[in-house]
Amino acid sequence: MPKVLIVGAGQSGLQLALTLREHDYDVTVMSARTPEEIRGGRVMSTQAMFHQALQHERDHGINLWEKGTVRIEGLGVSIGGPDGDRVMDWFGRLDHYAQSVDQRVKMAGWLELLESRGGKVVIHGVTTADLDALPQHYDLVIVAAGKGELVQLFDRDPSRSPYTQPQRALSVAYVHGVGPRPEHPDSPGVRFNIAPGAGELFMIPAYTLSGNCDILFFEGIPGGPLDCWGDQPGPQEFLDRMLGLIRQYMPWEYERCRNAELTDAKATLAGGYTPVVRRPVGELPSGAFVLGMADVVVANDPITGQGSNNASKCAASYLDSILAHGDKPFDREWMQATFDSYWENAQHSTAWTNAMLQPPPPHVQRILGAAQANDEVARRFVNGFSDPTDYQHWFLDPVKADEYLTGLGIPS
Ligand SMILES: Cc1cc2nc3c(=O)[nH]c(=O)nc-3n(C[C@H](O)[C@H](O)[C@H](O)COP(=O)(O)OP(=O)(O)OC[C@H]3O[C@@H](n4cnc5c(N)ncnc54)[C@H](O)[C@@H]3O)c2cc1C
Repeated sequence: MPKVLIVGAGQSGLQLALTLREHDYDVTVMSARTPEEIRGGRVMSTQAMFHQALQHERDHGINLWEKGTVRIEGLGVSIGGPDGDRVMDWFGRLDHYAQSVDQRVKMAGWLELLESRGGKVVIHGVTTADLDALPQHYDLVIVAAGKGELVQLFDRDPSRSPYTQPQRALSVAYVHGVGPRPEHPDSPGVRFNIAPGAGELFMIPAYTLSGNCDILFFEGIPGGPLDCWGDQPGPQEFLDRMLGLIRQYMPWEYERCRNAELTDAKATLAGGYTPVVRRPVGELPSGAFVLGMADVVVANDPITGQGSNNASKCAASYLDSILAHGDKPFDREWMQATFDSYWENAQHSTAWTNAMLQPPPPHVQRILGAAQANDEVARRFVNGFSDPTDYQHWFLDPVKADEYLTGLGIPS
């Protein structure tokens, strides 16, 4: 059986490792942290995952937290007006529920599961120099190290990367004590609250170390009022500041949040990164080639919550390519073709995500407005979070959007 090394124990690397073990591949994962260090560390993401991505986990029996995790039944959009009121507010139902399992819970659990299923786990933060020596011991080396330093092995692809700066300042807090939404108290949903000119607040029901919780997640436009975390406030000050900003910019959400308490002392996160697509094959000083995976090669802004979804889809796609290749050598051409298969799908979520970082053009304003009164439009928009390939057929194209809305009898 081919020997595979995966550097990085995140959504993509561990999912691929666990699914390769099902086929008896000799798999080693190198992780910068032990399971206990991951559980005791800082939150890393908001990781809302939708049906298609969750189904990959179910297909392989690694959806260990599915029963205990709150089900996200739909997704709502609110847009603030000048007086703190809402000029738009609607809720679209997902055909299948979404879920968010804290990566501290999931990655720690998956690392332990991998060892119990015969995978090798090496706890080691890998440097480029380390990596140079490794391919001689393996048939295939995959770099799944997220946004860490190893991405520098992979060249940015300018033709697929429109941005050279972070497009949002990110800030996250995991909390207990958020009340149900009055409009649909029995249907937990992701809320997408937009304060024009300032940014967005996502509210995401999730499962963490202490059970179910809610995540407050600001996407602040750089230089605006929600971009205010450079002083690295302590946990309580961080939450107090978030709540103050919610009261000021999304006041319709404040009542639900006013009694929020952090789930734990490591439940806050602030930062930002530049969306980028990289070339998938890295060449080491030794001349050996390594294949980049998920965020290493396609890192989208989390405004559309696609990164973990894409990581799951990338793991599923790479698994198919590896299995189909059998015992043949994993050369550069195979690596490029493996990425190309993944990109066939991932390009649609990247195109949509990059578009969502811009002020909405008229046809998108029309779509979001139509969703307020027309449930079919709302449902189509929210179910695209599971399958973003659909957006090319309407949301991203003014002509197709017009045809679709007009066909529903919605005037322009
Ligand atoms: C604030 C925020 C909110 C987000 N919200 C969502 C969301 O709601 N939905 C969604 O789908 N996506 C979301 N994402 C994106 C999502 O978290 C990532 O896209 C996803 O985790 C990428 O998976 P990955 O396997 O590529 O990398 P990661 O999950 O980042 O895993 C990489 C692993 O490699 C390890 N590593 C790094 N360098 C090394 C090294 N040198 N040696 C050894 N190990 C190393 C890291 O410690 C980590 O364990 C969000 C991201 C952020 C920042």
